Amino acid sequence: MQKVAILGATGSIGRSALDVITRHPQDFKVTLLVANKSVECMYELVQKFQPRYVALLDPLAASRLRSYMSLYPHIHVLDTLDLVCQVLKSDEVDTVVAAIVGAAGLKPTLSAVQAGKRILLANKESLVMTGRLFMQEAYHSNAQILPVDSEHNAIFQCLPLESHADLGRHDLADFGIERVLLTGSGGPFLKRDPASMQLVTPSEACNHPNWSMGPKISVDSATMMNKGLEYIEARWLFNLSASQIDIIVHPQSVIHSMVQFTDGSTLAQLGQADMRTPLAHCLSYPKRCQAGVEALDFTRLGSLNFFAPDFNQFPNLKLAIDACSAGQAATTILNASNEEAVQAFLDERIGFLDIAAINQSCLDRLAKREAVDLESVLELDEEARVITQSFIN
Ligand code: NDP
Repeated sequence: MQKVAILGATGSIGRSALDVITRHPQDFKVTLLVANKSVECMYELVQKFQPRYVALLDPLAASRLRSYMSLYPHIHVLDTLDLVCQVLKSDEVDTVVAAIVGAAGLKPTLSAVQAGKRILLANKESLVMTGRLFMQEAYHSNAQILPVDSEHNAIFQCLPLESHADLGRHDLADFGIERVLLTGSGGPFLKRDPASMQLVTPSEACNHPNWSMGPKISVDSATMMNKGLEYIEARWLFNLSASQIDIIVHPQSVIHSMVQFTDGSTLAQLGQADMRTPLAHCLSYPKRCQAGVEALDFTRLGSLNFFAPDFNQFPNLKLAIDACSAGQAATTILNASNEEAVQAFLDERIGFLDIAAINQSCLDRLAKREAVDLESVLELDEEARVITQSFIN
């Protein structure tokens, strides 16, 4: 029986993970649920899963949740990150689904890594901000990092089993791997005339053709920043150099990524666009379990298309690839700036194309900065947010 903590329990990934867990009550016990301020949604989860601990990190929301809890006096309601980290480090937790959105996910995820837990990583922003540090901590604590992001999960499934131990430390060339092909749908604006993109609305941007996701990652998919963040995530998770990663646009999202070998072979993972598949894979790894997802019916698939990304249409993608070669300071700045800019777009304070323009300006402004440890990463993150807000205003 794995004792599972879900960070971001009320979100799209959190709820998909809980859906898979519900199908296997004999294998998983939910012990900690964490979110920010979704009181009613969290109370529903409390009733269903009755974890020992539940946390809302917005103190007002936590105090509202407490007022609902008279039927559950044995459940502890937490309202600080420190308390959450204490539980994550305790033996109340074996497995952590890291699915808080954005930089807010970094500290709890990293503390679970430092405690040597099994980490099901959806919060790609943690790796974008602290890639090297994060993977080093995992190595020292013996934490197992299992990639939930569908592309990285697909790559992981295509890698030889011998490479799974010490993931992120091998040179994959030693296993006969030439490169990974990170596929991306291109989002809702793939065919859109760039001249008309400034005026797209948040609801158009969040209307992804294939996947149902939270608002931030949906906008990131529309700008293809999501693919850029995934590029950085892949770099750290699998210890890849720039020449070992290619991005391929594949509008149907049937192939979730591929691995090419030196003998000319290409292995791909295919499936429905449903995050319960990678979540089930990670939850039951190295075994397999029912995810509630139908396998593909190849007789109904139709054609699959592939082409190279257009950096003029998606400048954020190029910014992310360049930031990845520039180093940890650049990826931290880009991540922070993008989070602020995307929120401003969702709040209808800026236009769609302003997201990339603001990200570029923020990177230019902080070009000479360095980030070598967690403290400097967090400082730079804060500074980039302040500068981005000044651009937004
Ligand atoms: P959602 O917006 O649907 O959910 C976000 C979750 O994070 C909610 O539970 C929210 O709580 C919680 N949260 C937000 N801010 C805080 C905070 N400050 N402290 C604690 N909890 C917080 O996002 P998604 O589920 O779509 O994405 C989550 C992560 O998974 C992202 O990093 C994303 O990139 C990644 N991912 C998502 C995929 C998807 O299909 N959705 C696919 C691959 C990766 P509350 O409800 O209270 O605000």
